[in-house]
Amino acid sequence: TTSVELTQASLDRIAQVDGSVHAFLALNADQALDSARASDERRGRGETTGPLDGVPIAVKDVLATEGLATTCGSRILEGWVPPYDATVVTRVRGAGMPILGKTNMDEFAMGSSTEHSAYGTTHNPWDLDRIPGGSGGGSAAAVASFEAPLALGTDTGGSIRQPGAVTGTVGVKPTYGGVSRYGLVALANSLDQVGPVTRTVEDAALLHTVIAGHDPRDSTSLDQPVPDFLAAARQGATGDLSGVRIGVITELAGEGWQAGVMARFQESVDLLTKAGADVVEVSCPHFVHALATYYLILPAEASSNLARFDAMRYGLRVLPEGVDAPSAEQVMRATREVGFGDEVKRRIILGTYALSSGYYDAYYGQAQKLRTLISNDFAQAFEVADVLVSPTAPTTAFPIGDKVDDPLAMYLNDLATIPANLAGVPGISVPSGLADEDGLPAGFQVLAPALADDRCYRVGAALE
Ligand code: GLN
Repeated sequence: TTSVELTQASLDRIAQVDGSVHAFLALNADQALDSARASDERRGRGETTGPLDGVPIAVKDVLATEGLATTCGSRILEGWVPPYDATVVTRVRGAGMPILGKTNMDEFAMGSSTEHSAYGTTHNPWDLDRIPGGSGGGSAAAVASFEAPLALGTDTGGSIRQPGAVTGTVGVKPTYGGVSRYGLVALANSLDQVGPVTRTVEDAALLHTVIAGHDPRDSTSLDQPVPDFLAAARQGATGDLSGVRIGVITELAGEGWQAGVMARFQESVDLLTKAGADVVEVSCPHFVHALATYYLILPAEASSNLARFDAMRYGLRVLPEGVDAPSAEQVMRATREVGFGDEVKRRIILGTYALSSGYYDAYYGQAQKLRTLISNDFAQAFEVADVLVSPTAPTTAFPIGDKVDDPLAMYLNDLATIPANLAGVPGISVPSGLADEDGLPAGFQVLAPALADDRCYRVGAALE
């Protein structure tokens, strides 16, 4: 297959199904085909850049793409065209991968369903009345519906892994610092990571290899050798896990966990045992506080990050009605009023409150202490296990509309994914089968120590 054929097939598929899936916010068809032609010419000269040369990709709309609108799912960035590429975008272009377009997401990556996008909800290809997860529901739905073979997502509290789980795709959150955040519009700088959204573990390993590695433009980027993800995936695919110690996290089960999700989880654990792994139960006692910790730290960082959307620098500018010569503050207020959605406003208010003087110790300070305790839980667990496992999300995809007015119910989706972000460790979600009650996909999560992302690939591939 040529890259032009592959890219055209993706574009045709998008034309056919995206009217009902709505995974894409913007298409980049002409440029993608140009890039595909260039790739085919390279191939003709025997000069391919690597295994993904010519393979098209979809990009979450929170990553800056030069010349291609980037909205973060928000009205406030409507019409903003970045003058530069995010480092991960530079790298996928450099690998010869045509960019199909930008994918839908919850506004500024806040949410677990894409219902908080200002540009309409994405629908789960398995059942169009259900959510595709979030915030990266667009990338996951694009891959699940065969609109794109690969996509990029971002994961601050689960936005790659949870959409992966509920759409039956593979999603990876790399080690914090393993992939550059330059050009990623920050939600919470200490939690955000860019990662692969794919249909197979091996595809994820290939894409991760393209985007990983040190970037001097991101001060938190790690200057460390990149493990051989592909070799790890291939090793796992042999089905032999002898000697691998796997810890089942006891806190991530029980009440509120859907029976069908737990049944598929248990089956996957049994498969790992059959593959020769030593499975033990491991307790991470502070994980029960992870959600509360995250929902203080995230809004605190987000409220500070979103201050830059001041109606002066980017995107939307709304002039207050009936004011002759409005002040900068009046313009800012009018713009932010209509430019930000409810969830964004909620988190700005929460974050500003948590950071305000006098409350800092009671909220943000406490949350930072808990964050350390959660990291310590991981460190202790990784003394007895090489990887930790849990279901990725407590339920399968829920119906659109079910939780959109109930923030706490929405936040509960992230129970199992959030600890990894707080501690900076890598995680993968792989499909574990369909839940009996509803026939919808469930996800299996594998977490590894920082910089040992290759273990996620090895164990994940053993389950395929
Ligand atoms: N659902 C989580 C939130 O709303 C995760 C977001 C993310 O990973 N970007 O914060």
